[in-house]
Amino acid sequence: MSNLTHLTIKDALKGLKSKDFTSAELTQAHIDAMGAAKDLNAYITETPDLALEQAKASDERRAKGEAGALDGIPLAIKDLFCTKNVQTTAASNILEGFKPQYESTVSSKLFDAGAVMLGKANLDEFAMGSSNTTSFYGNVINPWKSQNSNKDLTPGGSSGGSAASVAAYIAMGATGTDTGGSIRQPAAFCGISGIKPTYGRCSRWGVVAFASSLDQAGTFARTVEDNALLLRTMSGHDPKDSTSAKKDVPDFVAALNGDIKGLKVGIPKEYRVDGMPEEISKLWGQGIEWLKSAGAEIVDISLPHTHYALPTYYIIAPAEASSNLARYDGVRYGQRADEKDLIDMYELTRAQGFGDEVKRRIMIGTYVLSAGYYDAYYIKAQKVRRLISEDFKKAYEKCDVLLTPTAPSAAFAIGENEDDPIKMYLNDVFTVPASLAGLPGMSVPAGTDKDGLPLGLQIIGRPWDEETVLKVAQKIENLAQFKLWSPQSK
Ligand code: GLN
Repeated sequence: MSNLTHLTIKDALKGLKSKDFTSAELTQAHIDAMGAAKDLNAYITETPDLALEQAKASDERRAKGEAGALDGIPLAIKDLFCTKNVQTTAASNILEGFKPQYESTVSSKLFDAGAVMLGKANLDEFAMGSSNTTSFYGNVINPWKSQNSNKDLTPGGSSGGSAASVAAYIAMGATGTDTGGSIRQPAAFCGISGIKPTYGRCSRWGVVAFASSLDQAGTFARTVEDNALLLRTMSGHDPKDSTSAKKDVPDFVAALNGDIKGLKVGIPKEYRVDGMPEEISKLWGQGIEWLKSAGAEIVDISLPHTHYALPTYYIIAPAEASSNLARYDGVRYGQRADEKDLIDMYELTRAQGFGDEVKRRIMIGTYVLSAGYYDAYYIKAQKVRRLISEDFKKAYEKCDVLLTPTAPSAAFAIGENEDDPIKMYLNDVFTVPASLAGLPGMSVPAGTDKDGLPLGLQIIGRPWDEETVLKVAQKIENLAQFKLWSPQSK
């Protein structure tokens, strides 16, 4: 039964429907595989008992003809989504032992559709990072290895555990969150696809907040279609999140396989950054050729403020984070330092509870929001954010989607870029602009570099037009014929 874990979600749903296997069997196969893949450290908390209980209930529902859209499908849930009575840590020491009394809207929608939770996936602490190395629970290891070295590689971040678990067949799909690239970059590093929908498409209720004006939930899966299946269930207006949009959820699955003849694909010239590895420009060129061959029209586009996106993001995201993280004071959630004096207790709780990257962001954020600097940094960044957004608006007068690389490199070794935060932040150069503009973006694996490591292409769409993004991604998937990770991919 071991190849049950290699099925796509779509095929697993078919198999469950035609009684080829039960959800209990499918879930047990994943639990066994998780046991054999412990070294990846993809999960912070595994929930095998809960998973088997959910699987059994799913099989009973199916027997009664009451199966939901994802009934019996085992998933990993990023440990940033609050899950009722199951420890939710955001990969931080400060939240160790925190068991929410409520379920995030996104995870409850998945469970209402019958999905099974295998566990809570590892991530960078409070989703701050691009390599999953800031987690208090240890780094995640990418299942991929370079053909030329045996070094452990990062899975990307912050949703590294989600991406690694799907790539390594220890989850059929996973939830992620993307504030500046945390779904798209790990998807690219792990050779799978992942979509961050339009800001407001999925509810943020019950998702531990990092930067509220940027945070957006999304999906990981091994095929574009599986992403569409998951996203269809997760999306929708939620009165509990004032930034979730009152928009009907289109049938993302039905949007696939459509024709892209005449579709205008924009190529932003500012994404040809200095020092971009040759293989990435080549792959981008290949992507352009594929879409042309499928009938798309290629249009040169300019997004003139792209250059300012990273500095803008690294002001706005820490500013919002410093405010959001003020709530961790040892009184309401998780850990509390043992101090008699109240102020000392707050200070020591935070000093012991937060890791270095989180502290760095709180300090940057507090600085840019402080009197005297607020106008010079925070307000200025908000103005530049508007200009970046306007760039996209203008571009979409000339094209329907944009095609770019997802990340400026393939997966790097664990420990690399670690002593230079700026170098680490540069990883987000292609993903951050769409986040600032709230646009949907998807990464799809399209090829490999000289070491045999996966590289992704990114499709960025108009607001609320995930359908076109998914359709283009699927075209690339069909044409690229990318080979997913397998134990032999070395
Ligand atoms: N790597 C980016 C950061 O560190 C993005 C993280 C994210 O999208 N959560 O902020």
